[in-house]
Amino acid sequence: MDGVHVSCICRGIVLEVGLVMLQGSRRAHEIAIQNASELTNTQVSIRELRSLDDLIGAGLDAIILPGGESTTMRIVGGEDGTGLLGPLYSTIRENSDMPVLATCAGTILLADPQDGGDPIISAEVDRNAWGRQIDSFIGPVAVENANSPIQCVFIRAPRFTDARKPSVIATFDGEPVGVRESNRIALTFHPELSGTTIFHEMLIEAALSVQRGATA
Ligand code: GLN
Repeated sequence: MDGVHVSCICRGIVLEVGLVMLQGSRRAHEIAIQNASELTNTQVSIRELRSLDDLIGAGLDAIILPGGESTTMRIVGGEDGTGLLGPLYSTIRENSDMPVLATCAGTILLADPQDGGDPIISAEVDRNAWGRQIDSFIGPVAVENANSPIQCVFIRAPRFTDARKPSVIATFDGEPVGVRESNRIALTFHPELSGTTIFHEMLIEAALSVQRGATA
């Protein structure tokens, strides 16, 4: 993939969506946000975030933080790696309305950024709490405002051990697996791998409502 892709449909606004390129199913997120862009009739430009330089002046309207393996992501994105994570966390903290969609390891990073600052989502997670890689599974997730459960992919997924502060927007077997705090959406699973666009649509809607607030 090269730098910036603009997709479909005009409604006057182009949302700049930053896609963190450290690890994980980035291409699947790209497809999901493009599909969500069409479904919401909103033009989206995907900006790939690899290093601090990609953040500077990017004017992001939303951020997608894919899963992968959080230890690896901390190393790759840390100060001895690309250096992206620290400035990314600062960008999110400084823009309290910034819509963020974090999946799986992305959620682990938001809950426990380990940069000396506050958690970016006020929830606690237990890594790999569903078991080992072989215990990964696909299961029905009940999602707020969805008519029926959506099959979602849990890959060596974390579990929320404390998610009392954010609102619960997705449950599996009655257990919270997706939370939202302001415009920060954190999921323990991978919606981008099962074709659903509902969470990417939420991200776009959140970004549009921030824009509407800014122009009101
Ligand atoms: N188990 C991984 C971790 O601890 C997360 C897995 C995932 O993102 N699919 O980082």
